[in-house]
Amino acid sequence: MKIGELAKQTGCDVETIRFYEKSGLLDEPVRTASGYRAYQAVHLERLQFIRHCRSLQIGLQDIRTLLDLQARPSAGCDHVNALLDQHIAAVQSRMAALRTLETQLIALRRKCNAPHSVEECGILQNLADRVP
Ligand SMILES: [Zn+2]
Repeated sequence: MKIGELAKQTGCDVETIRFYEKSGLLDEPVRTASGYRAYQAVHLERLQFIRHCRSLQIGLQDIRTLLDLQARPSAGCDHVNALLDQHIAAVQSRMAALRTLETQLIALRRKCNAPHSVEECGILQNLADRVP
């Protein structure tokens, strides 16, 4: 299939497919006699795998690692689990940071409880202070 068809089937932009090729995540397809790049089922499967990883916000380097692991079907999967555990820990750490941010923003929002002039607004007054 041509790149446009691959893009359509995977919901991936053509530019993104090219980027994955340049990054070495996706093999370059062979060219047909007429010169266009002919993608095979193996490209579709690989791209779906990458897309699925990206939907889980797994980074390119980790995807590369997972693909390397996938290429050794009989090896133990402990590296796969370890990679996922790391990713989960990173997500949890980001969630904790976001909760702190939410608390700070709610506290700031409480600095103003009634509509009044901008010059009297507690939120703007607070933002003028140094970062605590
Ligand atoms: Zn206000």
